[in-house]
Amino acid sequence: MTMKTLKIPDHISNISPYVAGKPIAEVEREYGIANSVKLASNENPLGPSPKALEAMGEAIAKVHRYPDEPGYELLNRIAAHLDVQPEQVVVGNGSDEILGLLSRALLQPGDEVIIPSPSFLMYTIVAQTAGAKPVVVPLKKMAIDLDTVLANVTPKTRLIFVCNPNNPTGTVVSENLFSGFLEALPPDVVVVIDEAYAEFVRDDKSAKGLGYLESKTPVVTLRTFSKAYGLAGLRVGYGIMSKDMAELLNRVRMPFNVNSVAHAGAIAALDDKDFLNKTVELVHQGLDMFYDELARRQVRFFQSQANFFLIDVAREAKQVFEQLLRQGVIVRSMQGYGYPEYIRVNVGLPQENEKFLAALDSVLGLK
Ligand SMILES: *Cc1c(COP(=O)(O)O)cnc(C)c1O
Repeated sequence: MTMKTLKIPDHISNISPYVAGKPIAEVEREYGIANSVKLASNENPLGPSPKALEAMGEAIAKVHRYPDEPGYELLNRIAAHLDVQPEQVVVGNGSDEILGLLSRALLQPGDEVIIPSPSFLMYTIVAQTAGAKPVVVPLKKMAIDLDTVLANVTPKTRLIFVCNPNNPTGTVVSENLFSGFLEALPPDVVVVIDEAYAEFVRDDKSAKGLGYLESKTPVVTLRTFSKAYGLAGLRVGYGIMSKDMAELLNRVRMPFNVNSVAHAGAIAALDDKDFLNKTVELVHQGLDMFYDELARRQVRFFQSQANFFLIDVAREAKQVFEQLLRQGVIVRSMQGYGYPEYIRVNVGLPQENEKFLAALDSVLGLK
């Protein structure tokens, strides 16, 4: 058999696969380096919460049993945490899986999906998987431009993605503009507000999806345990939405999609407020340190509401990325995102941040 003999739908052949940040071990092998620092995937540098680790240790002894389905304990715990009903929550194998459920439940070939750009690359894949057409709306001054998004709505528009804070720019849309935007939309469009970095937001004017559970235009809010909660490898995320929308997504969700160890880890992580506070504080201190240090060096950067930010390296980002790699620091080149001279860096531990700054100094010839 060759793939050529199969009748693969064009909309599937046309998908460019998602490229994740390289694992540390592979980069170290490839470049012959050791003790490298990964600041490329917006992960939590503190590791998982100790309470989550303990709970997962206990859960692993019971993996001969199927998980709680649909995950009553986790659903109840999330609902209590956010002051919503458990029936308004759907958990997924990462919030990525919720994106997949939205695609399967809401889209058909020919539909349009509005995707601000640059933003999270998965949104395009989600649209294309269903044969829907991604309608790309450029950012304005590094931020999602809700007016232009609105101007692109047609009778075929089914889904609109708003990444808040936006990955990779770290900007937020204001509550004010977001509520006006929702008012102006027809009721047959679903707005997905992806709040993967909500815990890090310091701008109190930022829009919050949870305020719109009852709005006439359906709003689905996405959250994840992968970033502030330090559980990226465990794969747990969730969506908060109306009960009707949750019922719809549950129709296309596979049973047992979140494993029992992940249930236990996520529940314990939600209870570990100290760990979350420590994480958020570490990120804010790290960002402020970076802003000061880069300003002192007269290197241009963009302030961010997330745990990562963009730096304008004023030369080809891919080259800077390669040179940083040789010094044992892994960041993300933004070349593939339409920013040929920017890199994205997430906050690490203080010593990791220092190592990055020293490597950047050497690569950019600053010291
Ligand atoms: C990291 C990230 C996610 C989280 O994905 P998971 O599948 O929950 O790990 C979602 N959206 C954005 C914008 C992200 O950057």
